[in-house]
Amino acid sequence: MPTSPPEVSADASHRIDHLLEAAGDIVFRLDASGKVLFASSRAQRLFGSVDQAPLPMLAALAADVDQAVLRNAIADAGNVPTQPMADEGALLSPEPVRVAVRMHAGDQETWFELRISALSHADTPQLLVVGRDMSSQHATEARLRHMATHDALTGLPNRLLLSDRMRMVIAQARRSGQGFAIVTIGLDGFKKVNDGLGHPVGDAVLRMAAARLRKMLRDSDTLARVGGDEFVAVLPGTHSAAQIKLVTGRLLATTQSPFEIDGHTIYVGASIGVSTFPEHAEDEVRLVALADAAMSLAKETGKGRALTYSSRFNAAPEHDISLEAAMFQAIREGEFLLHYQPIVAAATRQIQGFEALMRWKHPTLGMVPPARFIPIAETNGLINMLGAWALKSACMQIRQFAQAAGRPLYMSVNISPRQFRSDKFLQVLDDAIGYAGLDGSELVLEITEGTLMIDPVHAETILTRMAERRARIAIDDFGTGYSSLAYLKRFPISVLKIDRAFIKDLPASEKDGAICNAVLDLARHLNLSVVAEGVETEDQFHFVEQRGCRYVQGYLTGKPMPPQVALAALTDTYQQLREGVA
Ligand code: C2E
Ligand code: MG
Ligand code: MG
Repeated sequence: MPTSPPEVSADASHRIDHLLEAAGDIVFRLDASGKVLFASSRAQRLFGSVDQAPLPMLAALAADVDQAVLRNAIADAGNVPTQPMADEGALLSPEPVRVAVRMHAGDQETWFELRISALSHADTPQLLVVGRDMSSQHATEARLRHMATHDALTGLPNRLLLSDRMRMVIAQARRSGQGFAIVTIGLDGFKKVNDGLGHPVGDAVLRMAAARLRKMLRDSDTLARVGGDEFVAVLPGTHSAAQIKLVTGRLLATTQSPFEIDGHTIYVGASIGVSTFPEHAEDEVRLVALADAAMSLAKETGKGRALTYSSRFNAAPEHDISLEAAMFQAIREGEFLLHYQPIVAAATRQIQGFEALMRWKHPTLGMVPPARFIPIAETNGLINMLGAWALKSACMQIRQFAQAAGRPLYMSVNISPRQFRSDKFLQVLDDAIGYAGLDGSELVLEITEGTLMIDPVHAETILTRMAERRARIAIDDFGTGYSSLAYLKRFPISVLKIDRAFIKDLPASEKDGAICNAVLDLARHLNLSVVAEGVETEDQFHFVEQRGCRYVQGYLTGKPMPPQVALAALTDTYQQLREGVA
């Protein structure tokens, strides 16, 4: 039950005003009707002249605050029992009611916390309103919130906020039944800018690129920076192929126009990957991963373009997730193994070396072909672990093969784009060579044109380091990737492997014949060896042999085989075994 407040003398209340004025705070003393009895000079400065009663109450001062909230707060303050305040004998309600209010003056926003207490005076209760300017505290909190969720360089949302927004957009899309697109954008050739012109220029490119990309999107879209030169855009409501094409076209175009920085004219460009909800995936992690996979492919196959994820990227998308989960298990269980396919000298058909080809012996699916699992491993990063294992095993194996054959042999090992880009790759290579006690010259490392083209500056460094270790470099599937022949001159390459696509229709196909001739000619002039891949018939064998191809790999001269069969192939028992090998 509220007790009626004891009286305070007018003299006491003046002394209170005096004290409040001295404290320098924003203070009003009001009567119950809201009439201002006192306003500190700070209050007057902030809120203008308020001594002209009646005051349309604080609600008018603080236009944003809910009027009802304020009225209730004042009523509450008036109703709260009061208690004596030190020697002034004034009475204040024990717990002031606090209200946060926001004021706008032009562009400027000011936050106040108003504490409203009941103060008894003469025969009518009065209200004491003390305001504190909370703007700087608000600004600090807002800044901290911003820092935790945004990228410092570009000011764009970071991965954390992206993840939040994606969850929201997914929830909305589920409710509305309307799909949306995720777009990952990777700047092409950014590393070259960073390495060549220095980080400050690199940073400037990133900031400008971020601003340009942002401009191409709607306000309701989110653009986040998720890595060095990688951005992710979430486009709620954008779903049809035509809409996606429009947006990605704009994004590509804006990155292609030159960046003028510090007197440099810089050309960057971007590769873009797209995935859509709900077709490709329904969770944020997978949506981004699939868009990323599409972007990697766009980079590998020529850059400067946009690709939408397609289930054709993997042989059986519905098995992706279970296959992916099974891969981790398979590594622990040792279900991966290597088969070895002979590479023979065309002149003698004698085995010169082998290509190590990965196999996965799944307990229920049987032999899973590399075309099924390597792309998944490439996407989720497992390829680094698998590739390191393959390299080490193949290095160990070639020692045994060479010992059994009593002559030098070489081992060709496939290196995936992601492995090649990994910082640890050279270490992995050294470990494998060292562990097997090789000198490096027994190794041929097969990479694709795409791997080289992702980042030619980095590629040059790594290839030079590989060559220092005496390992030779082969271009696998030569002729199928994006190729600027200039790289053959620039990089220390020793071998070209003509892709099976150009062999399989020989000798009938004149065009394929012309391509094989051209590759062999080129290789002769550049002093490179050529391996014809996928030779299945005697006719094909003769065709390439007669045109000067010195090495052949194909079912005709040996399928990929387990190590014990390969060992036999190096000795007399091979002839009997050969027919039996699947
Ligand atoms: P690749 O490196 O071009 O390997 C040659 C592929 O052609 C092998 O397929 C081989 O079995 C197949 N092949 C060889 N001769 C013939 C032939 O006469 N006719 C036909 N039809 N095919 C032939 P495989 O073993 O299925 O491997 C496919 C691809 O998977 C490889 O292509 C390579 O890109 C990748 N791969 C295999 N093992 C590894 C590995 O350890 N690491 C990485 N990163 N990739 C690997
Ligand atoms: Mg290969
Ligand atoms: Mg190949």
